[in-house]
Amino acid sequence: MPSPRLFVLDDDPVLRDFVSMVAQKCDFDVTALTRPSELPDALAQGDPDVIFLDLKLGEGTGVDVLETLAGRSCRSEVVLMSGCDQRVLSSSARIGEDLGLRIGGTLPKPFKTSQLKTMLSGITHTGGALTVEDIDEAIQRDAFCLFYQPQIDPVAGTVHGAEALIRWPHASKGMVGPGDFIPLAESSGRISEMTYWVMRTGFSWCAALSARTGNRLRISVNVPPTSVGLPDFVSRTVAMAEASGLEPETIVLELTESSPLTDTPGVMAALSRLRIAGFDLALDDFGTGYSSLVGLHRMPFSELKIDRSFVGKIDKDPDARKIVEATISLAHVLGLRTVAEGVEDARGVEMVRDMGCDLIQGFHYSRPLPAERFDTWFTDWRTETANAAA
Ligand code: C2E
Ligand code: MG
Ligand code: MG
Repeated sequence: MPSPRLFVLDDDPVLRDFVSMVAQKCDFDVTALTRPSELPDALAQGDPDVIFLDLKLGEGTGVDVLETLAGRSCRSEVVLMSGCDQRVLSSSARIGEDLGLRIGGTLPKPFKTSQLKTMLSGITHTGGALTVEDIDEAIQRDAFCLFYQPQIDPVAGTVHGAEALIRWPHASKGMVGPGDFIPLAESSGRISEMTYWVMRTGFSWCAALSARTGNRLRISVNVPPTSVGLPDFVSRTVAMAEASGLEPETIVLELTESSPLTDTPGVMAALSRLRIAGFDLALDDFGTGYSSLVGLHRMPFSELKIDRSFVGKIDKDPDARKIVEATISLAHVLGLRTVAEGVEDARGVEMVRDMGCDLIQGFHYSRPLPAERFDTWFTDWRTETANAAA
């Protein structure tokens, strides 16, 4: 098994060298960094197992670095170091956790070799972080797979379609989720190849299932704006739909605004062409990141997916409930279909249905399933609804 990888980011050379030396003795593969601006290049080789991060840096602060790491969905364990008082360390650790990072602990400076060794011994070794080479190999060996999560029309009680969600069954890490490799695929330029694979696989799965069951089902796929902006994206998408036998009207391309869509060259024209060709376009994770009213106003979306961070709390949080209700009304006024993501129980179903939400996707109905289990789930669903109607 390769050595666990460790980054140490500290502008103080004495401490940086001290951490590097002790970590190397403990068999870590160490990368020493002085400035936050050196991080992106280092991370391009994949997330390390652990990052030792000083809070006080020459350029910016450790809190800025935490935000950058969270923006890249970094899965490394982060250990915070600082000469400031413990309260600053604790509040920074909380900020990191709130951002969804894995905070491994804090080390108030100065610290002893024994304290550092104790911290290093607790680092969970993920067996080497995923690298660009791993992704290339997985693409070559066709090692990815798609899971499918149903979308239900809550009034008719019918399955409208499914969203395709990528997974990576990995030899030593088990089933790896998209959050652990999509950011690396994006930053290393591998994402478009992956997106085309997802579309090809998802479209043919949907065509086969529709033919087998006699239902005209829809397939939703996630497409990053950078891929949509490529010169041949529209023609390749149209060709893939044709090859699968699906009508574009049964295909939804879901976009997340990880940066303002209007800033990505070529995206606006591509989206318009796709809509003219008959494809549906969904604005995913509405209410988070950059997904905004500007996007809704300027881009030709036909569907709006309300993020689960609001939907998941509608029965407990009156503000979340009002936001979901207002979002559904806004979408309908603009002529968009609405999908509530992350509905986990019957009460949630009842609430979003009563608010007029068109489709529901969530663990209450089903978790994302591998293709063969989706078939069984769908057969059971149809049997149950037929029995209930009889
Ligand atoms: P997304 O497109 O918003 O997909 C929905 C995510 O919410 C999925 O996570 C799904 O498993 C999860 N989810 C659905 N219902 C519930 C629920 O009731 N409770 C909870 N807790 N979670 C629920 P997943 O599969 O881990 O995907 C995460 C994100 O990764 C996706 O968010 C999407 O942005 C990205 N992703 C997934 N597949 C692909 C892909 O093929 N290509 C690209 N570019 N991104 C993908
Ligand atoms: Mg999606
Ligand atoms: Mg979403």
